[in-house]
Amino acid sequence: MGLYTDDFLRMLRNEIRIDQVINILGLETRYIKNFFRFRCPLCYGFHTATNPKTNLGRCFECEKNFNPIDLVMVVTGSDFVDTAEFLKNHIGNTKKI
Ligand SMILES: [Zn+2]
Repeated sequence: MGLYTDDFLRMLRNEIRIDQVINILGLETRYIKNFFRFRCPLCYGFHTATNPKTNLGRCFECEKNFNPIDLVMVVTGSDFVDTAEFLKNHIGNTKKI
């Protein structure tokens, strides 16, 4: 892309917890047997999980991992630049909590 440094991209990817990104995007969530699940934006199923260690969401049906950048792009249909701005703005907001 050229516009963004690696550090900035790493921050976008890691600064907001994947659970928070799911919340911000308004994806439907459920707790199934005490596990947090989100509605997969690709197959609309709940066969999903989040991993706080890697900050990834996973859909077991699609066999796909979503980092925060992937998830915002898929759900909002934004391009990379808009997604970077979107996440950057939310980093400011979540830090205050
Ligand atoms: Zn899926």
